[in-house]
Amino acid sequence: MIVKTVNFVKSSGKWQECPEPTIPEYAFIGRSNVGKSSLINTIMNHKDLAKTSQTPGKTQLINHFLVNENWYLTDLPGYGYAKVSKSLRKDFEKLITNYILNRKNLVNLFVLVDIRHTPQKIDLEFMEWCGENGVPFSIVFTKQDKLKPGAADRNVEVYKTKLLETWEDLPDIYITSAEKKMGGNEILKFIEKTNAY
Ligand code: GDP
Repeated sequence: MIVKTVNFVKSSGKWQECPEPTIPEYAFIGRSNVGKSSLINTIMNHKDLAKTSQTPGKTQLINHFLVNENWYLTDLPGYGYAKVSKSLRKDFEKLITNYILNRKNLVNLFVLVDIRHTPQKIDLEFMEWCGENGVPFSIVFTKQDKLKPGAADRNVEVYKTKLLETWEDLPDIYITSAEKKMGGNEILKFIEKTNAY
């Protein structure tokens, strides 16, 4: 898919405020600092569509972008930022979980994880929750360029092995680097294939 147009639609503080669910939607989520904004900008071939390097955990809004006039790309707030208060974190979790469970046009969730790290509890729990709730998702490894290729592949294998301890099947996996502009096309291909409405 060639991205011809991308337009910011709105920021929503509640799932009910999101745009009418009339076209397919694909959402991106991950821990703060995972590289979500950078990846979205790479996929959209845009410099600063999603704002990078904001204070982590501060922006707790759901941002909708209209792509090629026929699908939404949704930038969800980052989770797992330790420095926000407990009650704020709860509000935040509610915002994300309500959005995911209620958004009728959500086709797929891309869950981003930093390729450098061993599987983190918070990510595994989040994916487990998606599985339990029948939420379709894929795993997107970010920052591939930060490791030597062999080490990156090894980390992906470690991740898969960990998931297969409790799951029968693996979700789709993408390996990306915003720095090298790598992996975005595969994500766009998946979106093109699945967004027939
Ligand atoms: P977000 O909080 O998940 O939106 O993360 P950002 O996109 O703001 O990225 C966090 C930090 O990681 C920034 O300093 C980025 O420059 C850096 N970063 C993001 N993606 C990559 C990548 O693919 N490679 C490298 N080397 N750094 C990256």
